[in-house]
Amino acid sequence: MSVVEQDSVVSVMYTGTFPESGEVFDTNVNQQPLVFLVGHGNMIEGFEQEMLGAAMGETREFTLTPERAYGSRDDANVQSIPRSQFPEGMELEVGMVLGAQSDQGPMQFTVVDVNDEIVIVDLNHQMAGHTLHFSVEVVEIREATSDELAHGHAHGPGHHH
Ligand code: ZN
Repeated sequence: MSVVEQDSVVSVMYTGTFPESGEVFDTNVNQQPLVFLVGHGNMIEGFEQEMLGAAMGETREFTLTPERAYGSRDDANVQSIPRSQFPEGMELEVGMVLGAQSDQGPMQFTVVDVNDEIVIVDLNHQMAGHTLHFSVEVVEIREATSDELAHGHAHGPGHHH
């Protein structure tokens, strides 16, 4: 397999920046490569689309608008929750990011305001509304195994099942 395509297992080194400021929001440089199975919803779709056809050793630079990344912010996702629904004695501070289980699986939210009665939380993805720039180097491309295709994700070092 010589280029990134549907059902490739791809290893990349990447750096994500906010194009307005140049600030790095995420990178794995000097760490382990990021390994993912292409075309199974493991990465944001725009990221995979931009990497299709890339060859081993190639570096691609691209910018994703929010629509192709984590979506726009939705004010309806800012909600008030009674303080009593949080565990008693739990410290809640503005800016905290908390995890919870929902019907759709694990989710994260940010505390934007808190008092004795209510907690105002923002359920928008923290990257929602942001345009994101990526620099991505392909360091390995291989075919997925049948197990990986059946599971819908890559099996790398430390991934046992
Ligand atoms: Zn698996």
